[in-house]
Amino acid sequence: MKLIIASNNAHKLVEIKAILGSMFEEILSLREAGIDHETIEDGETFLANAAKKAREIAQISGCCALADDSGLCVDALGGAPGIYSARYSGVHGDDKANNRKLLEELKDVPDEQRGAHFTCAIVLARPDGSQVEAEGYFYGRIAHGESGENGFGYDPLFYLPEYGCTSAQLSPEEKNRISHRSHALHKLLEELGKE
Ligand code: IMP
Repeated sequence: MKLIIASNNAHKLVEIKAILGSMFEEILSLREAGIDHETIEDGETFLANAAKKAREIAQISGCCALADDSGLCVDALGGAPGIYSARYSGVHGDDKANNRKLLEELKDVPDEQRGAHFTCAIVLARPDGSQVEAEGYFYGRIAHGESGENGFGYDPLFYLPEYGCTSAQLSPEEKNRISHRSHALHKLLEELGKE
């Protein structure tokens, strides 16, 4: 069976292939599948957005499609930026501005109240309309300044007490092993195994 990933992000593709590779004969990115489609992400939850993306690609391609949606939820901000993580500062994908805004919002918040987690929702949609979903989490807290060069997005601010560093200071392999996306993919694999 063929699986199309509703993304062209090379890092995500490698991670997804490593975990789901044994379940599918072929795993293709949107580009590799010759699909040029942008889903309007107007859902109110990570799962709703991932499901919308996966269902649209399954319908267009007639194949199984997998999509994810992820973001950072900060306890002291009532779960914000959440589904708006990529455009928290107002400009989509401006990681530096997003991090500056987050630090500013938390400037008076003490360490013990700076808890946060990344969430990743993953949905596998089939052309017959059925779908399998999973969610994974990655817990840490928001540091007072940026550290580390690896990763992307909020990684330089995402401090992991048990590692004594931010997720931007972990090697890509180590982060992929413990991340929200990895947890969600393993749960999805488990769900698929039950069918
Ligand atoms: P997407 O679902 O991969 O598009 O991610 C949405 C946004 O959430 C990104 O632009 C980042 O701001 C944030 N985000 C999601 N996962 C991570 C992560 O692993 N590290 C840092 N930021 C992340």
